[in-house]
Amino acid sequence: MAVAWLDDVRSADVDHVGGKAASLGELTAAGLPVPSGFVVTAATYREFIENAGIDEELFAAVDVDHEDTEALREAHERAHELIMETPVPDDVRDGIVSAYRDLGDGERFVAVRSSATAEDLPDASFAGQQETFLNVREDALVDRVKECWASLFSQRAIYYRNRQGFPHDEVDIAVVVQEMVDAEKSGVLFTSHPSTGEPQIIIEAAWGLGEAVVSGSVSPDNYVIDRETAEVETVTVADKKMMMVKDEETGETVEREVPDEKRSKRVLSDEEIDELVELGERVEDHYGTPQDVEWAVHGGEVYMLQSRPITTIDEAEADDAAAVAGNGGANGDSNGSEGDGDVLFRGLGSSPGIASGEARIVTKLDHLDQVGDGDIIVTEMTMPDMVPAMKRASGIVTDEGGMTSHAAIVSRELGVPAVVGTGSATRQLEDGQPITIDGDKGTVRAGAEAEEEQHEPIEEARPKTPVKPMTATEVKVNVSIPEAAERAAATGADGIGLLRIEHMVLSLGKTPTKYIADNGERAYVDELVDGIRTAAEEFYPRPVRVRTLDAPTDEFRQLEGGGDEPREHNPMLGYRGIRRSLDNPGLFEHELEAFRRIYEMGYDNVEIMFPLVNDAEDVVRARNLLKQAGVDPEKREWGVMIETPAAALGVESMAEAGIDFVSFGTNDLTQYTLAVDRNNGRVADRFDELHPSVLKLMGDTIETCRDLGVKTSICGQAASKPQMVQFLVEKGISSVSANIDAVRDVQHEAKRVEQRLLLDSVR
Ligand code: PEP
Ligand code: MG
Repeated sequence: MAVAWLDDVRSADVDHVGGKAASLGELTAAGLPVPSGFVVTAATYREFIENAGIDEELFAAVDVDHEDTEALREAHERAHELIMETPVPDDVRDGIVSAYRDLGDGERFVAVRSSATAEDLPDASFAGQQETFLNVREDALVDRVKECWASLFSQRAIYYRNRQGFPHDEVDIAVVVQEMVDAEKSGVLFTSHPSTGEPQIIIEAAWGLGEAVVSGSVSPDNYVIDRETAEVETVTVADKKMMMVKDEETGETVEREVPDEKRSKRVLSDEEIDELVELGERVEDHYGTPQDVEWAVHGGEVYMLQSRPITTIDEAEADDAAAVAGNGGANGDSNGSEGDGDVLFRGLGSSPGIASGEARIVTKLDHLDQVGDGDIIVTEMTMPDMVPAMKRASGIVTDEGGMTSHAAIVSRELGVPAVVGTGSATRQLEDGQPITIDGDKGTVRAGAEAEEEQHEPIEEARPKTPVKPMTATEVKVNVSIPEAAERAAATGADGIGLLRIEHMVLSLGKTPTKYIADNGERAYVDELVDGIRTAAEEFYPRPVRVRTLDAPTDEFRQLEGGGDEPREHNPMLGYRGIRRSLDNPGLFEHELEAFRRIYEMGYDNVEIMFPLVNDAEDVVRARNLLKQAGVDPEKREWGVMIETPAAALGVESMAEAGIDFVSFGTNDLTQYTLAVDRNNGRVADRFDELHPSVLKLMGDTIETCRDLGVKTSICGQAASKPQMVQFLVEKGISSVSANIDAVRDVQHEAKRVEQRLLLDSVR
């Protein structure tokens, strides 16, 4: 038999049908209202490749150097071709089609979803690697099943298995074919409170198909039900602007405006709530643990589409929150208890933690070799090539630079304590002198202190409790060096809100023009693809917002080929960001080509962001170049940074150019609003991201964007400050992107503000 009915599948069949199908079968057997369907089993796939004799060729084709992007692309193309061009035997085809005809009235739209099987790989690692097709009918069904099989050899999947050293011939794939529920309303249901574990059922509901709620593109209604009394405790009806529906003609899922009369209408009736509560209790009883359920309603019937255990319930929540309230977050203004008597000098604590070691004074790049494990780098200003040495070091001290300087950003990402902007560290310290630095307080003390516990940046980034405070505001993380992606992902952030491409380029040691002259265009694009892919893979399917190049000329000047960089009186006001890219489209094209290839590889979680735009003209020109490079702006999420007052004031016309989101770059927005050079220590006391004028620009922009359906975010350093989070969440920002070390604090802060707003609205 090529297929097995979901009715007959159980958890124990996971090896034959994959995780997704096994769980759907289990729920069907428990009598829960799962849409009916069947599975094309893993054995069917295996027999297909073996009987056709393509198995060995297939596995040989994908046995390539996964770091070689060209080889990877060819491997994927060959594997795809082999599977798609090999005919499916008649008996298998008949088995699939006749099962389809037995579903409902035999003319139904079905969902075709991959369900991969591999015992030793965690399910989550497969997330999104394989295909799903919605609204499929008989004519396309068998081809779609083959597409699912072939998606076992997407570039992402080959790369992932090769990197893990996992043999390709040990992974099989089953395919679930299930009736589509053409939902009138849908959403999610938590059978217990997702943060506190209290006996409350929380339901979120919106009009149309569930994708809108799951992806966060619409604010759903929220219903809280006390499980003990079955009372509906609170109902919060949202203003629901958008909904996802099936296009009647094409069968595709499309976004539509919600008709006026339904926008602020309550989605669920009391009877529907009762039904959903009962469903939630049955699912939780079945599994014995709190569940997060996706549901849909069609023709008055409630269906269950998926159920997963809730992994965010936080027993130590209260303790955690108290600890947060007592420290200054990532701002370095906490007061430690130890004496300051032996403090040699101070700077800005820009990456938290305490480190002891020998000072290693680095004034030239060729001194970097002398930095040994555990040394503290002492330098005027970090240089682009320093990352490898920074990884060996236990701490970093600089003469120059502020909280938003390159040194501060990179050391925070690496989890290495840092004190920047000391003014004179390279002159005051002797090479080899033992010192202790405090990256919270910004102090440098004489002498080494007792060894701290082993420093393990990834473990340190991982929240101490396995809890993620559930917030409606997404909390993301900033990444500048792809090496930090793993540490960033360990924070549990909802995605990357800013991936700065310039650090990938700076670490090449050559300007892009020089690098291309020496190594060719292809090699340059490969470097960008590799860096973006590292982050996109680590976070998949969480979104990763990648920004095109924004390096000022003074940073490029330090690189090989930098002699050709223009000398500018004030590089911050000069040739950088989108203005430079638009001025040199030949070079910009390579970055856009990297995006095209990333999408081709299947990283549909990547979003594109343009820096330092001033107006709609900048945006339209950038969008046109994107299109010319083969990336369809209609299909991809793209947007711009708001870093100048001009951009903030002109956001309405930029929205007309089709942007999906804006993100506040407060490092620049503050410097341009207040006329304070962000890299100039002399005026650092005037650099105030919370200045009323900066806040007014942001507040007004959020209001306009909310009216226009454009998402808003912040990815400047100030996103890690509690007061800023408070202000922006109150204004209704869609997401906040913080530094790795601040993610958990920001999640708690956002949650606190949201809860207060919710309470205020019902009091
Ligand atoms: C900003 O300006 O706030 C920002 C995030 O960009 P960068 O720090 O790279 O200029
Ligand atoms: Mg900026």
